[in-house]
Amino acid sequence: MKQALFWIKKKDKTVQCHLCPRNCIIKDKERGNCRVRENKGGKLYSLVYGEACAVAIDPIEKKPLFHFLPGSTAYSIGTAGCNLHCKFCQNWTTSQANPEDVYTDKLPPSEIVKNAVESGCKSIAYTYNEPIVYYEYVLDTAKLAKKKGVKNVIVCNGFINQEPLLELCKYIDAANIDLKGFTDKYYKEITGAWLQPVLDTIKTLYEKGVWVELTTLLIPTLNDDPETIKKMCRWIKDNIGPDVPLHFSAFYPCYLMKNLPATPPETVLRAREIALEEGINYVYAGNIKVENEGNTACPKCGEVLITRNWFSVDENKVKNSKCSCGHKIPGVWE
Ligand code: SF4
Repeated sequence: MKQALFWIKKKDKTVQCHLCPRNCIIKDKERGNCRVRENKGGKLYSLVYGEACAVAIDPIEKKPLFHFLPGSTAYSIGTAGCNLHCKFCQNWTTSQANPEDVYTDKLPPSEIVKNAVESGCKSIAYTYNEPIVYYEYVLDTAKLAKKKGVKNVIVCNGFINQEPLLELCKYIDAANIDLKGFTDKYYKEITGAWLQPVLDTIKTLYEKGVWVELTTLLIPTLNDDPETIKKMCRWIKDNIGPDVPLHFSAFYPCYLMKNLPATPPETVLRAREIALEEGINYVYAGNIKVENEGNTACPKCGEVLITRNWFSVDENKVKNSKCSCGHKIPGVWE
């Protein structure tokens, strides 16, 4: 247990957490909406610091990050808890759990960094559940990792306040942000959150020089409307430019949304076409088995530069961040 960052005292031992836009007001002995931050006697504590409930070495492509050290591995950790409550969550057994209800390993930041170095991982990924809710654990680990030359990546819902985000930006090298949809209605009904803070996070990460990729999970009838996808792509292009890699992925029935069918591959491919038509340069169709949709091609000459087979890289022809035609390919390549 570690005293939390970003909270203030209120009356009668009540505190207010300012880590995410929920800004929970939490009475003594109670927890915030994410279940993992508890008021103990008028002070706010993180209940998941050093308590990893998921640990694995993953290909960086699995996050997904396609323009960030391709072919490398990421030492990946997660804890219990989340500040969103997506009805389709694939990791709900940990993300929607109380910390005492999941099995955890004691894994202090120093051990994570040591394990990452010893296993040859080029990065540590804070993933599986939402890294915002284990912020202090992420921050301490990321600081240590940076000193050892290991990069830090977050796979994140983007629902965080600006002040903690700016602090995190000092230590994070890359982020895959879930842009889950592009209407408040969708965010409110399906995730229990709202859109604007996520957009603010994406802009801030980009402005602070963190490498950003975006993922949108498409759910039939709920967020696959072509006009909304167009609007989203225009926002991306206008605010962070056409070079941000955009991953569309397919929904599979899960958790509270077992009543809907899986997303057909055509829906994912259609979204990809829309994004390309709107001028986004690198658009990927994830988790559907369609040949070549995970490859990276040069937008100028069309040469296929990175050939992927699911999460493995078969060939990478990006040299000095460029295509052989001289066009600069955005990303972190070394
Ligand atoms: S991080 Fe948790 S406790 Fe803090 S405001 Fe967000 S949901 Fe509430």
